[in-house]
Amino acid sequence: MEAHLNNSNRHSTIRHALTVDVEDYFQVSGFESRVQRSNWDKFESRVESNTDRLLSLFDSLEVRGTFFILGWVAERYPALVKRIAEAGHEVASHGYWHRLVYDLKPEEFAQDIANSKDAIYNACGIETTAYRAPSFSIVRRSLWALDILVEQGFTTDSSIFPISGHDRYGIPGAQKEVHTLETSRGTIQEFPPSSAAVAGLTVPIGGGYFRLFPQALTFAAIEKIERQDRPAMFYVHPWEIDPKQPRIEGLGKQSRFRHYVGLASTESKLTKMLTRYSFGTLTASMRSAISMVPAPSA
Ligand SMILES: [Zn+2]
Repeated sequence: MEAHLNNSNRHSTIRHALTVDVEDYFQVSGFESRVQRSNWDKFESRVESNTDRLLSLFDSLEVRGTFFILGWVAERYPALVKRIAEAGHEVASHGYWHRLVYDLKPEEFAQDIANSKDAIYNACGIETTAYRAPSFSIVRRSLWALDILVEQGFTTDSSIFPISGHDRYGIPGAQKEVHTLETSRGTIQEFPPSSAAVAGLTVPIGGGYFRLFPQALTFAAIEKIERQDRPAMFYVHPWEIDPKQPRIEGLGKQSRFRHYVGLASTESKLTKMLTRYSFGTLTASMRSAISMVPAPSA
């Protein structure tokens, strides 16, 4: 009887994770060869206005999410960080300089995340405990980063993409569910970005894939994950709802396509997705994942 009740309640308790990687349009990994970090201050900044648009959208739909904020952004726009926190969203770290983890030495990575934590703390007084690596760059050869995250007080990571075929990220065959990882310094919860096989395609849920694929495919992927009784992890960037952002010159074909495809329709797709499915912060979503583990029947 108990097990039966538990089953019937399952779907009402699933809450997918809404996450935002707060960075500006010129800070993405695909532009690294064209845009030097020392020049970031020279670009027209649009991160504040775009993030505010996301905040109003989420507010109108009464949905909360987790914002992985770049330390560089937090330092320059502390009022934005405060607005995010005061609106009831979770603030989390996306590193300081948006450097790929596997390009760094462990001590450089430690410094980068310490700087990002400081910038966010100085802006809103909150100690961040969740982290997402730039371009999901915790891969097999940079798993050492997890030890450093635990050392610096992080309890949740969302950087390991269980996917194959991307040139910058992914650990093929990595666990897709929320799970606990052991490190030499203690444990950390991993909430991996989601994907599902739909119509013979692997459909990751978020970012460029969300812009590229018809919304029906993303929705089918979310529903497939729901049927497996687990929450999906969705991610979006403020610049992805900004079709008028200044264009970066001299990009390769692939980088240009990945960044600019589907910008004009992202906001309306996002609205539809958030209206149709139940979304929440990383913490709320993880809690719903844990509550879905069936109770022992004996
Ligand atoms: Zn990023």
